[in-house]
Amino acid sequence: MTVKVASEWLNSCSGCEISILDTGERLLDVLKVADFVHIPALMDHKYFGQLGDGRHIEIPEADVGLISGGIRNQEHLEVAEEMRRKCKVIIALGTCATHGGIPALTNAYTTDEVLERYYGTETTDPPAAYPSQGLPPLLDACYAVDEKIKVDIYLPGCPPHPDHIFGALVALVEGRPPTLPGKSVCDTCPTVRKGKGELKTMRRFLQNPVYGAPDEPLDRMRCLLEQGYLCMGPVTRAGCGGEAIRPRCIAARVPCRGCYGPVRPNGNQMMDMLNALASNGIDVRSLPGIKSLLRFSGAHHLLRPVSPERRPHP
Ligand code: SF4
Ligand code: SF4
Ligand code: SF4
Repeated sequence: MTVKVASEWLNSCSGCEISILDTGERLLDVLKVADFVHIPALMDHKYFGQLGDGRHIEIPEADVGLISGGIRNQEHLEVAEEMRRKCKVIIALGTCATHGGIPALTNAYTTDEVLERYYGTETTDPPAAYPSQGLPPLLDACYAVDEKIKVDIYLPGCPPHPDHIFGALVALVEGRPPTLPGKSVCDTCPTVRKGKGELKTMRRFLQNPVYGAPDEPLDRMRCLLEQGYLCMGPVTRAGCGGEAIRPRCIAARVPCRGCYGPVRPNGNQMMDMLNALASNGIDVRSLPGIKSLLRFSGAHHLLRPVSPERRPHP
């Protein structure tokens, strides 16, 4: 049986498409059973017909539709809706698609503020005008794909590991749902943990964490969170290392930034992390940029000083 696959990128950096290609030689195995009918990263298939004479966005029918990137403008929305019409199963591929990802950081600002920042700062030509001709209008925010269309399967990660993309395609060909690890990054992290009781404030990642020689095994480095760096491992889904298991960033001695999304499907990483820090007696006001992060979260109470009665016992 051959499964028809369509792939689209919306508000995307194309890293997720590169991850599809990074399945490497296994892609040849996938191509024996998966027929890519539409994938702009690899195939020249025009939205409005090959001669540009169509009047509506047209994507071929497919069994599986992979969508990377969130939805930020009207064109993204129309492409996503066409993918939903034409594909039996929609996979949100990558954290931009599953949660909005890095581009959704702009949701802390209005569209006018974003445009002003982009076109009207000291680094642009004054008085710069916002481009409007021939461009799809921006929506009021950057949306995860399932905020606009129904999504059947979620493959988070920035980008998702090629092992997971390969595993998902094989699972779908075999007629079963793909699965992801249900653990946290910390659960798969080999660093040394002694307890973070002595830690009260967080440090900015402006100096190297402490470890021995560059080739020293990870299981001899102290946990980065315990070294004072904001590592999102406790509240992030495991799996970014693929079959190698080791978390990718930690293996490079860099704190986890949480790109695999929450461990629980509807979890809130930021709130879970702030709660974890606060419950361990760490002053969350020491986090760089915390005020902007909480601007729309309704969690300003976390910025108030902790009263002596509410402080955790030493
Ligand atoms: S999830 Fe990451 S790699 Fe994928 S499109 Fe978004 S920013 Fe790029
Ligand atoms: S907090 Fe970070 S460094 Fe520490 S165990 Fe978890 S993932 Fe590893
Ligand atoms: S360590 Fe964290 S941020 Fe880095 S790739 Fe893994 S999940 Fe993503």
